[in-house]
Amino acid sequence: MEMDAKLQGRPKTYFLQEAIERGFSAIANRLDREQNYRPYFLLRLKPQPQLEHHIWDLGDMCSRFTDAYLLGRPVTGSAAFKEEEEALRAMLDTCDPFLNPFMAGRMLLAYVDLYLDSPSTERREAVEKLAASIRDNVQHEEDYSYWFKNADGWNTMEHAVFGDFNGYPTFPLGGIMLALARFTESAEAPDCEDLLDRMCRFVLNVSGTFEADGRYQGHTHSGGILTAAVAIMRRALRKNDTAIIDQMKNVFDWTLRFSSKWGWVPDGVGPDDASCESCTITDAIHLGLLIARHIDESYYAILERFARNQLLENQFVHTDPMLPQGEFPEKPIFERALYGSWASWSKPGSLDNCIESVEGCCLGAGIRACYLLWDDIVTKRDGVVSVNMALSRNSQWVEVVSYQPYEGKLELHVHEAAEALRVRMPDWVVREDAVLTVDGEARPIVTDETANGYIRLEGLQAGQLVQLLYPLTTVEAIERVSGRDYKVRWRGDTVLSVTPSGQIYPLYQRKWMEQDSAPMTQGIPYAEQRGGNVHW
Ligand SMILES: [Zn+2]
Repeated sequence: MEMDAKLQGRPKTYFLQEAIERGFSAIANRLDREQNYRPYFLLRLKPQPQLEHHIWDLGDMCSRFTDAYLLGRPVTGSAAFKEEEEALRAMLDTCDPFLNPFMAGRMLLAYVDLYLDSPSTERREAVEKLAASIRDNVQHEEDYSYWFKNADGWNTMEHAVFGDFNGYPTFPLGGIMLALARFTESAEAPDCEDLLDRMCRFVLNVSGTFEADGRYQGHTHSGGILTAAVAIMRRALRKNDTAIIDQMKNVFDWTLRFSSKWGWVPDGVGPDDASCESCTITDAIHLGLLIARHIDESYYAILERFARNQLLENQFVHTDPMLPQGEFPEKPIFERALYGSWASWSKPGSLDNCIESVEGCCLGAGIRACYLLWDDIVTKRDGVVSVNMALSRNSQWVEVVSYQPYEGKLELHVHEAAEALRVRMPDWVVREDAVLTVDGEARPIVTDETANGYIRLEGLQAGQLVQLLYPLTTVEAIERVSGRDYKVRWRGDTVLSVTPSGQIYPLYQRKWMEQDSAPMTQGIPYAEQRGGNVHW
């Protein structure tokens, strides 16, 4: 059975890995070879296509692109663009973290990734040195630290600013806090912990960002609000502070109210007719994953919808709609830079509002989001392996092969005997409709007592093949998003179409998904990719 299954090849369902590879190429084509591979922050599309340098090329882009290559390689195994990666890494060390305070956080995140990847004294010192210099640059009062604060009594629910993120106290702090939160989980660093706790106290008690029940308004990523929420959640989980954990879970639930079920998340939480920046989807995914991992595993269903839909659709895979028609000498340069970039502005069914330009931040963030999801597809805790999302990937414990969106079929090739294997059943499937086999023999479906929707299997040995079959139902639904009704056609948790979509760059043109058997590929794609050293 196992041999047969291996010979059959695999369905073409490696969506996250392919998106990362497209992103790698987009990064490499967004670097200025005449300036030592300095990134171009902006790809201008209108009135004339142009690659433009900005201050964000430096601390921001060098960090995000370093981060993207570092996280994306263990997922794809791609060895392309090593020279570009090394050049970016070298340029990172020359960047001024305080050119804009936002840079410091992005740079610290990259240094934390480099430390997690290879925890040497030198890399640890790079993190601590930058953290110390941030400490010297921020304001300290009472038990909190900050870059700037608004007048007493300012709060986002009443005084949210839209169109300018500079007014948010979390704007320069979010990235710094997130980096410190992750770093202090892996390194003894009392000074970093102290600085992080001081910033958390500022955001929670002084800044006016969040109401006690987690509500807020304003710019989620660009204003640093969701980035800070991820950091605060990580810190609260580490300290087991249940009140703050609840508050940050509410922040996510509140954000969902303004988002679509398929993962369109507005950068401006508040008024209707908002726009989604891919960076925001990444922050939301990060916060959601923490909830799924530590508090409520049913949240993986939400994240799988995000993964299959808006995260992928926000990536440019067509260049024609965004570039001037006809041929001109530089056109291939812009096509290569655009193809695989992630949109900085999107509507729930189109990229029509992204015709002016595409920012580089979203490209780094898109790869990061794919990585974050990929890393949680299958996890192991206390000897128990859990398959949390039906997305194809290999791992050291089990290979996950999903046939969605074509077929309701999940195959698990066991690599390593484990105390138990848990598999999350899709949330639209009733147990009676699913069929479970091990090496072709039917098994009763036993759901795990401890968590909703997980099937539990015990006594599996290396080499065995688990197969789960379930119906993929197609349903139509109306969903109101940002003040507008959308007709959405779902097949399982995959969106096939959204109406209205758009005139220039409509999304969810997914006719190609509407076949009943999965297109197959020879061999096992990404077979060697079982994860790296960095986990978030
Ligand atoms: Zn962005």
